[in-house]
Amino acid sequence: MTNRLDGRVAVITGAGSGIGLATARRFASEGAKVVCVDLDEASGKAAADEVGGLFIKADVTNEDAVREMYQTAVDTYGSVDIAFNNAGISPPDDDSILTTGLEAWKRVQDVNLTSVYLCCKYAIPHMQRQGKGSIINTASFVAVMGAATSQISYSASKGGVLAMSRELGVQFAREGIRVNALCPGPVNTPLLQELFAKDPERAARRLVHIPLGRFAEPTEIAAAVAFLASDDSSFMTANTFLVDGGISGA
Ligand code: NAD
Repeated sequence: MTNRLDGRVAVITGAGSGIGLATARRFASEGAKVVCVDLDEASGKAAADEVGGLFIKADVTNEDAVREMYQTAVDTYGSVDIAFNNAGISPPDDDSILTTGLEAWKRVQDVNLTSVYLCCKYAIPHMQRQGKGSIINTASFVAVMGAATSQISYSASKGGVLAMSRELGVQFAREGIRVNALCPGPVNTPLLQELFAKDPERAARRLVHIPLGRFAEPTEIAAAVAFLASDDSSFMTANTFLVDGGISGA
């Protein structure tokens, strides 16, 4: 493993599980100091202990908590060089426009979209002072295409993440801050397993549409995040980065 992230400070939300956990491991293996943020104390702390980083328990929908988590990262390690805004929840059951209630809709927007707004809002001032930074926001392939399964609130939230990332990437490019949206295809994580446990046929319907014929492993997504975080992607910003087994191209 290279040391592309040597000395960089990375804040990862949703670091206790799935894509966030795999990325915490990958970032640490490339030399970063990792701040693991999660609402779930047990898994978040375990992740931080494993990668020798700092655990912060925070609900990313809470503005004070988000402001404080970046301040704590700066107070502890001196900077915030990478913000991987990744925490998210799966769609509510039967996430159709005809059945999704307003409260369920709002909850998904809060956790998947408003959290990214808050994380960018409070990470960017630190990066402006540093004159550099890389922000990676987790959207999804459903932000760029209709899915074979109805998931209206989830897709809308991820579309918002994509548009916001593009907008911020353009706005802050001249200040050395890059902002990219990561769009994973279906990834073998607890989030996906939970969805498929409720509706086993959904897995088969999804699989049919993936040219590579399988779901991604979290490590494959983490490799892409590390690329976006590092200087290897120095000419990329306001970008939609698809890591989806070809599903959106088929
Ligand atoms: P996961 O459920 O394995 O992990 C999500 C983590 O986020 C959990 O540790 C959870 O505790 C944390 N979290 C949830 N709400 C939080 C909150 N309010 N504050 C702080 N932490 C919170 O999920 P995953 O599959 O690794 O998904 C990570 C991201 O990738 C999500 O944004 C998801 O929408 C997106 N994504 C996942 C897939 C997939 O197939 N798994 C595909 C595309 C996009």
